Amino acid sequence: MSNLIRKRKQPWRDPNSVPHIEITDLVKEFDDHIAINRISLDIYKGEFFSLLGPSGCGKTTLLRMLAGFETPTAGTIFLEGEDMSKIPPYERPVNMMFQSYALFPHMSVEENIAFGLKQERIAKAEIKRRVDQMLELVQMGKYAKRKPHQLSGGQKQRVALARSVVKMPKLLLLDEPLGALDKRLREQTQFELMTIQEELGITFVIVTHDQEEAMTMSSRIAVMDLGELAQVATPAEIYEYPNSRYVAEFVGDVNIIEGVICEQSPQFTLVESYETNSKLICNQGVGARPGSQAWIAIRPEKLDISIELPQNMNINCMQGEVWDIAYIGDMSIYHVKLLTGKMMMASEVNRSRLIERRIKHEDQVYLSFSPDSGIVLIS
Ligand code: ATP
Repeated sequence: MSNLIRKRKQPWRDPNSVPHIEITDLVKEFDDHIAINRISLDIYKGEFFSLLGPSGCGKTTLLRMLAGFETPTAGTIFLEGEDMSKIPPYERPVNMMFQSYALFPHMSVEENIAFGLKQERIAKAEIKRRVDQMLELVQMGKYAKRKPHQLSGGQKQRVALARSVVKMPKLLLLDEPLGALDKRLREQTQFELMTIQEELGITFVIVTHDQEEAMTMSSRIAVMDLGELAQVATPAEIYEYPNSRYVAEFVGDVNIIEGVICEQSPQFTLVESYETNSKLICNQGVGARPGSQAWIAIRPEKLDISIELPQNMNINCMQGEVWDIAYIGDMSIYHVKLLTGKMMMASEVNRSRLIERRIKHEDQVYLSFSPDSGIVLIS
């Protein structure tokens, strides 16, 4: 998982920070279907905030309510302290950029960017100044006279972005903005988008299906499930400290081991798992009673795989056979079938170029992890 660790302020940690957008008890029903179910959420100025979740979880509906294209069934949205419910979409200081880019095909790049400013009857010289500034920002100056059909996908995306921000909205909503680009261009454009967002200081709320994209770009991510917020946190927190099996499984690869809590304190939880036939300990208290069901989430890269018996084999250790090895260049992923039949995944960085692998198919191996590496989940 990648995240471009840039120096970002974290206003959500400061109780004195005033939210830029305040969403309170927001509900959206379509006929008898609840698309958004009492969501409350604060987003801060200059955030790059991602809405992440499977198809149909309500991401676009939430974005459309922020834009004013959908009316909430209940609840409120405030932007800079102003209630948006009475303000039609075209009067909101908000713009939305669609995946299709929606560029005017008969207009050149600069005419596309200037369009919104012309409608506002801004003086010609000022329009030119702002369009030139945007062309420079998105590095499209030399293509200013081209029509959209003469541009690549990435270039169209940059024009669409310039057009969306030229009027300096307070909030830019982006619906799958990189969805039409191929993987490499997408990755490159993610950096550009972040740089532009930082330069302009506009709050971005972005909808994406792509968890890696959300991890890379976001200040925070809201993982959504059936119209509700499953977790709202920084990319690193979502990955390292998911609050449920749903979030752990949605973001990145993970092994989920079911068991029963046998001992616990604020500092640790000991789980007995019939799935691994072992006792597992994590340095984390969850406040659940002994005897209750729990799951240990452990990422593949946090499992050590070895032929030799690890030193403390009584705890956090599982025995199995290598069932499959996926070699993906920089890493090898081992699928290990435990003696109990449960399949586990462990990954290892390929530091050496040796073709002859240390661990091979059908090897009997041990998987182990440190108490700091696993997370105990109770839902
Ligand atoms: P996707 O990733 O597929 O775009 P999403 O998370 O953006 O999905 P939404 O488009 O917000 O999901 O839809 C949430 C739910 O609301 C879905 O079950 C969808 O069928 C329903 N829905 C959305 N718009 C309408 C509408 N105009 N009328 C009725 N139901 C709708």
